[in-house]
Amino acid sequence: MPEFIEANCIQCMFCWIYCPDSAIDIDTSGDKPIMKGIILDHCKGCGICAHECPPAKKGKSALVMVREEK
Ligand code: SF4
Ligand code: SF4
Repeated sequence: MPEFIEANCIQCMFCWIYCPDSAIDIDTSGDKPIMKGIILDHCKGCGICAHECPPAKKGKSALVMVREEK
């Protein structure tokens, strides 16, 4: 499953554009959309969002894939 690390997010919206399952939670109430996190009920764990998320904060990405705990 993807883990969202908010401190590394530059709000580029690549994850929202590329996610095939509309699992990216975006707040559209303000002037600009804000990435809020992952809607895990919609997410199939494909990893596309983590692949597309740029490592923009000192080489660190805001989305990384982690093993889901059972
Ligand atoms: S892992 Fe795949 S389905 Fe889940 S949020 Fe990322 S792109 Fe969407
Ligand atoms: S792709 Fe990464 S940096 Fe861009 S909005 Fe999504 S989580 Fe934030």
